[in-house]
Parts: sequence; structure tokens; C-alpha cells
Amino acid sequence: MFDSVSGVRLTKFTDLALRAVMRLAVEDGGGSPTTREVAESMGVPAAHMAKAVTRLQHLGVLEARRGRGGGLALTALGRGASIGWLVRELEGDGEVVACEGETPCPLRAACRLRGALRDAQEAFYAALDPLTVADLVSSPTGPVLVGLVGRRPG
Ligand code: SF4
Repeated sequence: MFDSVSGVRLTKFTDLALRAVMRLAVEDGGGSPTTREVAESMGVPAAHMAKAVTRLQHLGVLEARRGRGGGLALTALGRGASIGWLVRELEGDGEVVACEGETPCPLRAACRLRGALRDAQEAFYAALDPLTVADLVSSPTGPVLVGLVGRRPG
């Protein structure tokens, strides 16, 4: 259903999860939107967002509050999480190139390119390590997100 891992191109699944995290980060402790509300404000199908939300719950990044006024909220772990850590978790440990695919590459046991691509992939994640959720919703992104929250269906 979602794109496969392709190097520095994130899967659609990871992007949806990051959108959900950013969207929830501007609730400021007050609101707890539903998955459908998060999906609508982020412009994505609710069914796809539900899968991302489930994965984020398993990672401990967000929680679903039950009862009246219930909905989704970031956990303390989620608020302080490194984006590099989160993207690694969401993307999995797939390589940039499918060296071991259905027809394994004959160079796979001694390929310098493979090692270089692994290093490049790790550098990509490492560049995201210092960023937190709070960093992602600082201006100009945060005010735009707040505007989207304001247009949430009542
Ligand atoms: S040439 Fe190297 S990087 Fe490319 S598929 Fe073969 S082993 Fe992997």
C-alpha cells in the first residue's frame, strides 16, 4: 500500500506519521483531536492516518485518551523524541538498494558502493537526530498548523 523504503526518500507512511506528530504538537495540552480530525486537517485519508497513529502508539509517541473529550495526544516521550530516532523506527532498517532481493547481486559480499550507501543513509538519519518535535513546529510551521486546527470540523 505504501511506498517502499528508497534511501533519502521517506515512505508515505513515515511522512503521515510525522504530520500527525506535528499536528498534535500544537494542541498545547488542551485539545485531543480524533484520528479523523487529524487526517482531515493534514489532508490525508483517515484509513491511512489510522495506520500511522497505531504505529505511533506502539512506539509510545502518542496515546489515545478515552471517554468524553477523548482523542489523540502526544506523550512526554513523543514531545521530547529525536526526529532521527523516530524516522529510523518508522522506516525500518531497509537498505537504499535491494542487494539481497529476488535476484541477489553478485557483488553483494564485497561491494564498496553498498558500504558507501549505508554510510550515506546513516548520515541522512544523523542529520535528523538533533531535531525534536518542538523544533519542527517552531515558526513558520507552527502558526500554519494552528490555523489548520482552527479549521477543524466541529
Ligand atoms: S552493486 Fe553493490 S550496492 Fe548495487 S546491488 Fe550490487 S551489492 Fe548492492
